[in-house]
Amino acid sequence: MKAIYPGSFDPVTNGHLDIIERAANVFDELVVAVAVNKEKNPLFSVEERVELLSKACRHLSNVTVDYFSGLTVDYVARQEANVIIRSLRAISDFEFELQMALTNKRIDENIETLFMMTSAEYSFLSSSIVKELAELGASLNGLVPECVEDRLVASCVKRGQEAKTR
Ligand code: ADP
Repeated sequence: MKAIYPGSFDPVTNGHLDIIERAANVFDELVVAVAVNKEKNPLFSVEERVELLSKACRHLSNVTVDYFSGLTVDYVARQEANVIIRSLRAISDFEFELQMALTNKRIDENIETLFMMTSAEYSFLSSSIVKELAELGASLNGLVPECVEDRLVASCVKRGQEAKTR
C-alpha cells in the first residue's frame, strides 16, 4: 500500500525524518510531498526543500520525494493512493490536524488521514524552531540531517551579510 506524507518541510528536521522512516516501515511505498505555496514566506524554495528531503531520505529505498500545488486530496488521488500520513507532537497540533483531516474527508471520502505520534525525543522540534536556532548561531547537531545543517548555516550567513550591506 502507498501513502503520502505532505507538508511544508521548510526545512526537513529529524522529527520529520523519524516519521518518514517509521511510515516507510509500515507502507510498501511512501511519497514525501512538499506542498507549494502553503507558507507565504518560506526560507527555502520548493526545489531546495525537495533536494534536501531527497538527500535525507536516500537510505530509504521505498521513499520518493515530490512536490505539489493545489488540494492535497487531489494530489493523493493523482498518485493513486488513499492514505495521508500526518503527525502529532502535542495537544496543540490536534485542533488544526483534526480540522484538516475532516475537511479532506469531506472533499474526498475515499482518502484516510492516519496519524503517527512523534517520538518523545523530537516532540519539541519544528522547522520554525530550527530556523530560529540557526539564526541565533546555536548548534543544530542531532536536530536536522547534516545536509540541512550546512544549508541552514549558509543561508543564515548570507542573510547576515545582506543585513550588514543594507
Ligand atoms: P505543515 O505546514 O503542513 O504542518 P510541516 O513541515 O510543519 O508542514 O509538518 C508536516 C507534518 O510533520 C505535520 O503533520 C507535523 O505535525 C509533522 N511534524 C513536524 N515536526 C515534527 C516532529 N518534530 N515530530 C513529528 N512530526 C512532526
